[in-house]
Amino acid sequence: MSLPTRNNPYTFNEFLEWRNNVDYYADDPFIQKVVKHYCGDEWQKVDEEARAVSKKASFKWRNLADTIACPEKRPYMTHYDGHHNRIDRIVRPMETQILEKEIFSEAFFSNQTSPWVKLIKMFIIYQNGEACVSCPMTCTEGMVEMIKKYPDTPETRHILQHCQEGIDGEFAIGAQYLSEIQGGSDVPANVLEAVQEGDNWKLYGTKFFCSATHADYAMVTAKPVGSEEVGLFVIPSWLPGNKEKEIRNGYTIDRIKWKMGTSELTTGELTFNGAVAYQVGPLNRGVANVAGVVLSYSRLTVGISAGAFMSRAVREAKKYVEFRDAFGVKTGQFPLVMSQLQKAEKLAKQTTAGTFKLYRDFLSLEGGLKGGLVADENIETRKKRFEIRELIMLQKITASWDSTDVIRTAMSLFGGHGVMEDFSSLPRLYRDSAVNELWEGPRNVLLIQMHRDFQRASSWYAPADFIADMLQGADQEALSSLTKEFIDLISYPNLLQMSDETIAVCEQWDQFCHKLYHCYQSLALAEVENQI
Ligand SMILES: Cc1cc2nc3c(=O)[nH]c(=O)nc-3n(C[C@H](O)[C@H](O)[C@H](O)COP(=O)(O)OP(=O)(O)OC[C@H]3O[C@@H](n4cnc5c(N)ncnc54)[C@H](O)[C@@H]3O)c2cc1C
Repeated sequence: MSLPTRNNPYTFNEFLEWRNNVDYYADDPFIQKVVKHYCGDEWQKVDEEARAVSKKASFKWRNLADTIACPEKRPYMTHYDGHHNRIDRIVRPMETQILEKEIFSEAFFSNQTSPWVKLIKMFIIYQNGEACVSCPMTCTEGMVEMIKKYPDTPETRHILQHCQEGIDGEFAIGAQYLSEIQGGSDVPANVLEAVQEGDNWKLYGTKFFCSATHADYAMVTAKPVGSEEVGLFVIPSWLPGNKEKEIRNGYTIDRIKWKMGTSELTTGELTFNGAVAYQVGPLNRGVANVAGVVLSYSRLTVGISAGAFMSRAVREAKKYVEFRDAFGVKTGQFPLVMSQLQKAEKLAKQTTAGTFKLYRDFLSLEGGLKGGLVADENIETRKKRFEIRELIMLQKITASWDSTDVIRTAMSLFGGHGVMEDFSSLPRLYRDSAVNELWEGPRNVLLIQMHRDFQRASSWYAPADFIADMLQGADQEALSSLTKEFIDLISYPNLLQMSDETIAVCEQWDQFCHKLYHCYQSLALAEVENQI
C-alpha cells in the first residue's frame, strides 16, 4: 500500500553507496579463486598485483572512463593548424590522456612483467569498457609479439623498446591497420601498395578502419608493387622529431567514423601517400603472421574483455535486484528475475574460467604462436598449436556473443534505468561488446575458417582426438555425442556452396561451435569450483 505524498523520498543512494565502493578484485571471491587455481606457483604474486591495480581501476580509472564516455568528451579531429599546415590532430580530453598514461605505465609488455600479471591487470582494467585503452592495449601487444619474432632493423628494435620498456617513461601505443574499403574479412584482397624506394618501403593507398588513430606506431598490411602476396609492415605515425611538429609520416586521416561503440577511441579512414614503413617478417607471410600472431592476440583479448564485461554487469545487476522493490518485494525475489540472473552469472563465470584455462594452455605452448603451420615440428607440438589456434577462435565467437547477451540481460534487470547512460555504465559496455563481436574476425569468418582448418587437419589430427584433447575430463556420453556431430559436420565438403542443405549445415555448425566451447568453459568452471 502506498499513500500519495508530494515529497517522494525515494533514493538510489544505498545502491550507489555500494557501487561506488566496490573493488573489482578484492570484492570478487570468484576471480580470486580463478587466479589461485590457474596461475600456478605465481598466484600469490598475481593476487598481490591484482589487488594493487584494482585499487586504481575500480575507482579513479572507473570514474575517468565514465567521464570520457559523455558525448561532449568525444574525440574529434583538427585537420589543419591556424597556418594552414595539415596536422591531423586527434583531440582527446585530458581525462583520456591521464587514463592512458597511468594505464600504459603499468608496463604490460615489459620483459619484467609476467604474462599472468599482465592478464589479470587486463581483466580488471577491461571492466571499465573500451575507454580508449582496451583496443590500444591489445594492438600494442600484437605488435610487440610480432616484432619480437622479427626484430630485424634498428628501427624495429627501437619500436619494440619503446612499446615494451618505454623511453623516458613514455610507453608507446600500437595500432593495426588491415581493413580496406572493399572488405575487412578478406585480408588477402588488400590493395594498399608498398613500394621500395631507396632503403625504405613506402605505402600508397587507403585503409578504411584504423582504430587507435592516436597511436605512435601501426602494423599495416600492404602488397609490394606487382605482387599478389600481402606483406606486413610497421609504420611510425610520425618520423623522428616530427611528433612535436605534428607532421604525420606520409599519410592523412581523412575522417573519423561515427560509431555505435568504443566511442572514446577514434576509428579513422586513412590515405597513405608515401608513408615510410619497415618490413616485419617475410613479405609473403603477411597474412599468415597477421592471422597466426597479431589477430590471435587480439582474439584472446576479446575473451578476456568479455569475461570482464560480464563480471561487472552481473555483479551490478545482482546487487540492484537485492536493492530494488516492485510490488512490495525485492525484484530478486521474482523467480523469473532469478533464473535470468543465474544464467547470466554462470555465463560470466564460465567465460572467465575458460579464458584463464585457455591462457594457461597458451602459455605452455612451446615457441608461442606462429604464423601458419610449422613443417618440421613434432606431431604433439603441432597438435597443441592447432588446438590453441582453434580454441582462440572458438573463444572469440562464443565469449563476445555471450557478453552482449549477458549485458543485455543485466540491463533488463535494471528495468528502464538499464538503458540510461547516466544511470550506469552497462549501456556503454553493451555497445562496446557489440563491437567486440565484429572486430578481430567477425563470427562467420571464424566459423568458416575453423571448418576449413578442421577438414585440413583431419589427416594428422583425428577429429575424435581433437575433441578428447580439448574436453579432457568431460563425461563420456557428452564426448561421444559431440564427437559424432563434429565428424558429421566437418565431413560436409564445403560451407561456401549455396544450397538449402548447406544453409542448414551452416546453422548447425554455428550452434555446434558455440556448444562445444561452452563445454570447454564448463569444464574450466568445474575445475575452479572443485579446485581440481
Ligand atoms: C569499431 C570498429 C573498429 C575497427 N577497427 C579496425 C582497425 O583498427 N583495424 C582494422 O584493420 N580493422 C578494423 N575494423 C574492421 C573490422 O576488423 C572489420 O569490420 C571486419 O574484419 C569485417 O570486415 P568488413 O566490415 O569489411 O565486413 P565484410 O568482410 O564485408 O563482411 C560482411 C559480412 O560477411 C561475412 N563474411 C565475410 N566473409 C565471409 C566468408 N568467407 N564466409 C562467411 N561469411 C563471410 C562477415 O562475417 C560479415 O557478417 C574495425 C571495425 C569496427 C566495427
